[in-house]
Amino acid sequence: MPAQILDGKQIAAAVREEVKQEVARLKEQGITPGLAVVLVGDDPASQVYVRNKHRACEEVGIYSVVHRLPGETTQAELLDLIKQLNNDSQIHGILVQLPLPPHIDEKTVIDTIALEKDVDGFSPANVGNLVIGDKCFYPCTPHGCMVLLDKTGIDPRGKKAVVVGRSNIVGKPMAMMLLARHATVTICHSRTANLAEECRQADILVAAVGKPEMITGDMIKEGAVVIDVGINRVGEKKLVGDVHFESAVQKAGWITPVPGGVGPMTIAMLLKNTVEAARR
Ligand code: NDP
Repeated sequence: MPAQILDGKQIAAAVREEVKQEVARLKEQGITPGLAVVLVGDDPASQVYVRNKHRACEEVGIYSVVHRLPGETTQAELLDLIKQLNNDSQIHGILVQLPLPPHIDEKTVIDTIALEKDVDGFSPANVGNLVIGDKCFYPCTPHGCMVLLDKTGIDPRGKKAVVVGRSNIVGKPMAMMLLARHATVTICHSRTANLAEECRQADILVAAVGKPEMITGDMIKEGAVVIDVGINRVGEKKLVGDVHFESAVQKAGWITPVPGGVGPMTIAMLLKNTVEAARR
């Protein structure tokens, strides 16, 4: 029997509705959650992401400001803007859209964002808190994956989870969040000796690789939950994930589509983190 679909679009809409209600409650107390998004340069994909984030904020009543800076902006100018936003009481969350132009050091920029406004959850202090299980902002994409599981009633406890990819923004925090929820976690990467064999052990398989359709049905355990984080553009228009959907859907028990799986959850979690920052 083909897998059931983990419908990110539908679940993200439900999360956005919850956020909208929370924003209304905060407004009654005189607090309007505010998000500042900073975009440097004119990368077309980043422009689309930033526009979507701004629109999503407006839809739920979050005050949102987009700072569009030219590609030649110096690191010092960018840091000055972040420091201003750190001190701006109308702004509860700050997001700097990555990637930044090569003359700007991403780490220095992320380190400058005040911890209590780091709604992307990328700063070292926030990541440290995530690892030790302290209060933190969960990075939006892995957080979205966890909410997909929760809202579908899939409990990671005691399950074998395999995360393919070890980036700081997806793979590593994903593994930590699954571990915190009592899964037994394996992290795979480009030097993993036998990737297919590792993947076949997974009750929950998360693909965050950035290689179109590289995880195929023969690498998936019968009935597994498959979460495809990948977004890869193939040709002019087509988007595909890191999982080969047509073969995987025949083996998995649950699977996320691309598009319409993890992508919409990422933005919903950004809204949730911004509201959480305002509440704190
Ligand atoms: P990165 O390029 O930072 O990391 C990719 C990871 O995959 C690395 O750890 C790399 O290993 C590993 N990898 C590469 N090739 C192989 C291989 N052949 N076998 C096993 N592992 C391999 O990517 P991101 O984590 O930033 O993103 C991953 C994907 O998720 C991309 O498609 C991206 O577009 C998408 N994405 C989607 C989001 C969403 O909202 N849905 C948000 C963020 C990302 P190594 O460390 O050894 O190099």
